[in-house]
Amino acid sequence: MPEPYRRRRRRRRAVPAVPLLLGTVLVCLIAAVLWVLLRDRGPEAKDIPVPDYVEQDYLTVNEWSRPGTPLEEISGVVIHYVGNPGTTARANRNYFESLSSGLENTYASSHFIVGLEGEVIQCIPLTEIAYASNGRNGDTVSIEVCHPDETGEFSPVTYDRTVELTAWLCVQFKLDPETDVIRHYDVTGKECPRYYVEHPEAWDTFLADVAAAVKEQEEAHG
Ligand SMILES: [Zn+2]
Repeated sequence: MPEPYRRRRRRRRAVPAVPLLLGTVLVCLIAAVLWVLLRDRGPEAKDIPVPDYVEQDYLTVNEWSRPGTPLEEISGVVIHYVGNPGTTARANRNYFESLSSGLENTYASSHFIVGLEGEVIQCIPLTEIAYASNGRNGDTVSIEVCHPDETGEFSPVTYDRTVELTAWLCVQFKLDPETDVIRHYDVTGKECPRYYVEHPEAWDTFLADVAAAVKEQEEAHG
């Protein structure tokens, strides 16, 4: 006959004070390290539904204009002008696509292009880098803006759409228009977007318009 099952009482042993203290210190230390590592980083880049006015027409993955490199964080938006008066968003998107042949030996692209009629084409997903903003490609979203003439000034409809799109990005990625929306000029000193480099007061107005649009969009969506 099997031995009758005897329940053994396990006595809970008291946790010694020293390991407990060390454990607490360790947890605090890990928390502190994580806080230091994470506090300065922008929000994580993620694939989110874009507004209705954005047509998504992604470039083919290629080394010249869509390297497929993950965009780890989004801590800013960089505004550009296409520098080619009168060209459409479609034409500029096709130019970026044509670079994939390698024949032009040029690396260039942009996440978004705002066209002459206020239309918007998205060329690169928000989870990948574009080749637009030099040292800031790794943590920013780029917007190329079409313009009717050499001055580089955006037409009213294009301007309004650029404000709307920039504000939408600020809301989605918790960016501050005053500090996180910059010109290509602010990265490299390049005269881009030309009109808003030559007219700093027009750039200040743009930022103020984006800030107002952020408030509006936040109020509209709670
Ligand atoms: Zn630029």
